Amino acid sequence: DSALVWFRRDLRADDHAALYHALRRHRRVYCAFVLDTDILDPLPRADRRVAFVLDALRVLDTDLAALAPGAGLIVRHGAPREEIPALAAELGVQALYFNHDDEPDALRRDADVGATLKARGLEVHSFKDHVVFERSELLTGAGKPYGVFTPYKNAWLREITPFFLSSYPVERHASRLATGADVAARRGVPTLADIGFEPAELSAALSGGSAGARRLFDEFLERIDRYGETRDFPAAKGPSYLSTHLRFGTISIRVLAREAWQRGYGSSGPSAGAQTWLSELIWRDFYHQVLHHHPQVTERAFRPEYDRIAWAEGPEADADFDAWCQGRTGYPLVDAAMHQINQTGYMHNRLRMVTASFLIKDLGIDWRRGEAYFAEKLIDFDLAANNGGWQWAASSGCDAQPYFRIFNPVSQSEKFDPDGKFIKRYLPQLSRLPPALIHAPWLARPAELAACGVVLGRDYPEPIVRHETARMATMARYAVVKDRG
Ligand code: FAD
Repeated sequence: DSALVWFRRDLRADDHAALYHALRRHRRVYCAFVLDTDILDPLPRADRRVAFVLDALRVLDTDLAALAPGAGLIVRHGAPREEIPALAAELGVQALYFNHDDEPDALRRDADVGATLKARGLEVHSFKDHVVFERSELLTGAGKPYGVFTPYKNAWLREITPFFLSSYPVERHASRLATGADVAARRGVPTLADIGFEPAELSAALSGGSAGARRLFDEFLERIDRYGETRDFPAAKGPSYLSTHLRFGTISIRVLAREAWQRGYGSSGPSAGAQTWLSELIWRDFYHQVLHHHPQVTERAFRPEYDRIAWAEGPEADADFDAWCQGRTGYPLVDAAMHQINQTGYMHNRLRMVTASFLIKDLGIDWRRGEAYFAEKLIDFDLAANNGGWQWAASSGCDAQPYFRIFNPVSQSEKFDPDGKFIKRYLPQLSRLPPALIHAPWLARPAELAACGVVLGRDYPEPIVRHETARMATMARYAVVKDRG
């Protein structure tokens, strides 16, 4: 008998839960991916994520063929609710296999496809693959989902065993991958032009699908011990840059978490850097279970009282929002960070916190507008982590930053980009400013700036808001939370 494995955010041929289970149980296993028009149609025509996915699909196709000559990936372009049942019928399979995707739209899509196939008598099986612990696997003593990170992390570290981190040995059963003429006739990955997209540049770190991810990880392992000291400095090569690979599953979370756990807590440890990095992977699990238990967070504040806040609206707020998006706020670190996301599709974690805080607590703008902007621009966009990050910055989320803790964009800049090295990378017009002037150029005397080739208002904007005034306005805006909370 035969089965179809539907790939989605798990674009690799190794350590893959659904593929492994399908191969173990069925004699002939087909692999397919649907370029989902419901997701693709609303996107801008040049989108790095689409380029990333097509690149990863080509590698996946080759990797499947390497596992069993003649095997490969069937790629369809359309709505999965039609394409998957149609493909299952064409191939005459008896079962569908896929890995969980707990985003609300994905759950609806999967329920829809699953119901159609079950009505036709097919089996439908789905598996945990994207995170280490999912859904209700970790609950408090009272049987409730965790709402605070530290107890969640402690439970995660308490429950973890090699079992949860061991890889699915797909290669052991690879001879069951379907090979014949029906695969050959359908196999092949379209180009961007074939599906109506324009070329989009991918950095070397993001190219090469699963092989590229492995190279990046091996390179990161050489500096993981220093992660704790370097991770907060955007000019340094501190973090792993693996977020996009994790988002699309070109590398397995088990491979990453196993290595970090062994180095952090196991026989090859203790490495403080590996412990800190593992903690970030646990944040990822944490936000996924928050989204699973509280899907309303995609629209509303996790803490309902925060939806009483009256955000800045109207033409002035719109102009401030545009300045933020385009990196014209007059705060160099904020602007450099926004240039980073606009130019590369990536933004350093420290800067995501700084820019989110600036939009919400210096400009008084609804966090949902920033969340949507990041969702459009980030190549590693992940609904659970992005929403978690924005609600953290807005103080409205699960275990969020308290509302009265307001990042000072100038001191953040002095602390985390002391020499202005990162700022200068993205704002070359400030490249001659010394560290003493670069974090808050408006405080310098015009002659001092002019000596470095900068005239405010000409080469670089005046600040659109004064942090101290904004801080007071924010405390007043957030008073509704305190008064009636
Ligand atoms: P590393 O520091 O190497 O971390 C390793 C991995 O851990 C990351 O790849 C990521 O999968 C996970 N991780 C790290 N920090 C977090 C976190 N705070 N929450 C959840 N997972 C985390 N991350 C996304 O993957 N997609 C998003 O859309 C996203 N949006 C964010 C928005 C805001 C406002 C904030 C404050 C954070 C956001 N993050 C998001 C989390 C974090 O900034 C990125 O995961 C990280 O910068 C990616 O770089 P890296 O892979 O080099 O991270």
